Amino acid sequence: GSWWKDVQPAARDPILGVTEAFLADTHPSKMNVGVGAYRTDEGKPLVLECVRQAERHIAGSNFMEYLPMGGSVVFNDHSMKLAYGEEASVLADKRVAGIQALSGTGACRLFADFQRRFKPESHIFIPVPTWANHHNIWRDAHVPQHTFRYYDPVTKGLDFAGLMEDVKRAPEASVFLLHACAHNPTGVDPSPEQWKEISALFKEKNHFALFDMAYQGFASGDTNRDAQAIRIFLDDGHQVACAQSFAKNMGLYGQRVGCLSVVCDDTQQAVAVKSQLQQIARPMYSNPPLHGALIVSTILGDPDLKALWHTEVKGMADRIITMRELLKKNLVEAGSHLNWQHITDQIGMFCFSGLNPEQVDRLTSQFHIYLTRNGRISMAGINSNNVEYLANAIHEVTR
Ligand code: PMP
Repeated sequence: GSWWKDVQPAARDPILGVTEAFLADTHPSKMNVGVGAYRTDEGKPLVLECVRQAERHIAGSNFMEYLPMGGSVVFNDHSMKLAYGEEASVLADKRVAGIQALSGTGACRLFADFQRRFKPESHIFIPVPTWANHHNIWRDAHVPQHTFRYYDPVTKGLDFAGLMEDVKRAPEASVFLLHACAHNPTGVDPSPEQWKEISALFKEKNHFALFDMAYQGFASGDTNRDAQAIRIFLDDGHQVACAQSFAKNMGLYGQRVGCLSVVCDDTQQAVAVKSQLQQIARPMYSNPPLHGALIVSTILGDPDLKALWHTEVKGMADRIITMRELLKKNLVEAGSHLNWQHITDQIGMFCFSGLNPEQVDRLTSQFHIYLTRNGRISMAGINSNNVEYLANAIHEVTR
């Protein structure tokens, strides 16, 4: 008999489906604004110059050994300084447990498994909407999930009142997943004042914040500014955790380089927590990959390369911000009388356009423009050559 006769095909990933359809289309004006990866103004993937230079430093290195289970210690230190701040007292006190992770996804998954193992009674609260994989990650880690209100489709902005109400209503000592900046898919972030209110309420309720930070520097162009939510929580004395990814901000997508860090009471607790995180990694993949971690620590450990990186990440952020302005301007010039203010109010890789599934379908069938049916437009896929075409098409399907 066949061993796997009961295996049915898994549900297709909506984003990969969009890319497949795009690749199969032969129309010269076709556009892919589905996938969340940076493209230049020529529509090409980008390898940062600081990464090229770091690779030259690394080339010929005869170190190809295993990293420790927790990954590169130097990499983890640089990564945590980037998230918490060079001068963060939690780092000076050596009370943060940091472990290299398989990019942001792996960092989230390590945390979810850690939560399940050491706080089995706690649940995870996830914003509506969120990056779809969050649901899969906590599902597979067997942590019960709930949602909290986040985005208001009417204002196309933050549902702050709903968020606060849901935070208040959640049982004491719940774990919340918060996007540190450039919320995916909405591009809507709380203001610093709102973060302060959220932090105060978390204190009152004894909630725990896990910050998923997949876009540090990529949102505003300034890595400190994009970490302000985390810094606000630290100032209030929270013990947070942080899932970092270098996929977007260093363009290291396929290298799978990230970091999970957990703020603890003291050094002894941090050592214990790190050892347990390593214990979770060991039977899954033993130890993380070397190359990406070397690239990141070479860049962050060299003042010149680090300065170059800051310039380049700001360049990516600025190009996206410029495209937001151009898209809005072109919609007005196309004759649209709808309100497109949210295009420039939102931040980061994505614009949550407000287009409904039928309008998205028309964009694809009539104009060969590919995106997910929730109306999420990857700003990185827009450039000076196609922005007018996209604006005209959006105007046609929304008039
Ligand atoms: N979190 C969020 C919110 C994301 O948007 C992404 C990337 N799509 C990730 C985590 C993880 O990405 P990666 O595993 O490539 O770092």
